[in-house]
Amino acid sequence: MIGTRGAPVDVLVVGAGPAGLSSAVAAADRGKQVLVLDLGLRAGGQIWRHRDEAALPRVARQWLQRVRAAGVTIASSARVLDALSPDELVVDFGGRIDRQRTRALILATGAKERLLPFPGWTLPGVVGIGGLQALIKSGLTLNGSRVVIAGTGPLLFPVAAAAVAAGADLVRVAEQVPLRTAAAFAMGLLAKPSAIRQAIGYRWAFRNTAYRTDSWVTAAEGDGRVRRVLLRDRGRSTAIDCDWLAASCGLCPNTELAELLGCAIDGDAIRVDTSQATTVAGVWAAGECTGVKGDIAALAEGEIAGRAAAGDAPGSRRSSLQRRRESGREFARRLAIDFAPRTELLHLAGADTIICRCEDVRRGDIDPRWTQRQAKLWTRIGMGECQGAVCGPACAALFGWQANVPRPPLGAPLCGDWAGALVDEDVSGER
Ligand SMILES: Cc1cc2nc3c(=O)[nH]c(=O)nc-3n(C[C@H](O)[C@H](O)[C@H](O)COP(=O)(O)OP(=O)(O)OC[C@H]3O[C@@H](n4cnc5c(N)ncnc54)[C@H](O)[C@@H]3O)c2cc1C
Repeated sequence: MIGTRGAPVDVLVVGAGPAGLSSAVAAADRGKQVLVLDLGLRAGGQIWRHRDEAALPRVARQWLQRVRAAGVTIASSARVLDALSPDELVVDFGGRIDRQRTRALILATGAKERLLPFPGWTLPGVVGIGGLQALIKSGLTLNGSRVVIAGTGPLLFPVAAAAVAAGADLVRVAEQVPLRTAAAFAMGLLAKPSAIRQAIGYRWAFRNTAYRTDSWVTAAEGDGRVRRVLLRDRGRSTAIDCDWLAASCGLCPNTELAELLGCAIDGDAIRVDTSQATTVAGVWAAGECTGVKGDIAALAEGEIAGRAAAGDAPGSRRSSLQRRRESGREFARRLAIDFAPRTELLHLAGADTIICRCEDVRRGDIDPRWTQRQAKLWTRIGMGECQGAVCGPACAALFGWQANVPRPPLGAPLCGDWAGALVDEDVSGER
């Protein structure tokens, strides 16, 4: 069933995070043949990324068991490179490029970090906050390394706790918003005792480290590797020695594949209706690619999308699923307002600071009067290997440009000549 010569699957899911897994189970429970593709080594997405399944939280283990019991096929190390149409994708199956056909498509491609450039952000040892967490979940041990974490929002807490558990000497956690904003957000969580308990547990895990609000990175310094971070901390400048700096500014939906398919985007997220249908027939979307709102809402949206893609009548499920989705969306609205990047963060990059690391484009190379298209023509900004996946959200924040309209291939294929690999199938001539 996998690849060109197989018949189309009933439902193809892109992304094996909470949203993708729950949509796969919902569709398989309705008798559909379901294939899930994910570029990761194992199913689980960002929050349930793991090496040892037994070490995952119970809810994650239960979902992985449900997926197996439902007879869903999961293809790991499988990156979707292109969408020829809603029923035919080009996929890099770990180095073998092939087409995958389907009768219904569910996008559950999650979110990515928003990295706002500052002097020194490209030094080795500077990573995103979620990037540090991913490295730790993949086996990085920090063995007394001095770590500074700087960013915004609730993600700071689990990553700080994970860094300590991985042996870090966690020297500072910096939150860019003022104390009153962080406190008001925490008060809003009082109605959710489990979230409060979780936050307290994380804070206890890094209890020996200062958590400072109104505090953000202005620069990273080092010769060949980060050795010092400069912070603006409650109105004062301060410097902290470190071996790792994890810095980013929130998450944004991962919409590239949806954009290739022509799905409408609202703000920075895929537009969906009440049954998670996108504006393109035969394509549904669920989870953080439709707005950053947490794993509980991602699971609910996945189930709604899976049922709809399997043919359940729309609107027949006015239920707890929809309440969980609404509560997640409300949470997303609050996150976006409370933890929006402060304007100072948009002015950190100097003329020499690299903005697009694929094409080595610096801040000073961009004339602020240019349109995005002019900037691309003159500098190739956003046209390198990641196709703007990293610099796109930064450029949107810095210059007010629309998100980069991606071009295939999405990400770097594991096999070099991806278009050549498909020439026999005459794919290249179809576009
Ligand atoms: C880096 C990071 C770390 C996070 N850590 C936490 C945390 O510790 N705690 C927490 O509560 N929330 C965390 N979140 C938020 C968390 O991701 C969500 O709450 C939840 O996991 C969203 O589930 P999802 O299924 O929508 O997306 P995800 O879990 O992100 O799953 C999306 C999946 O799509 C796959 N994918 C994307 N594009 C392609 C493609 N072209 N081809 C094939 N596969 C593709 C990705 O590999 C990924 O596995 C994190 C988010 C990020 C981005």
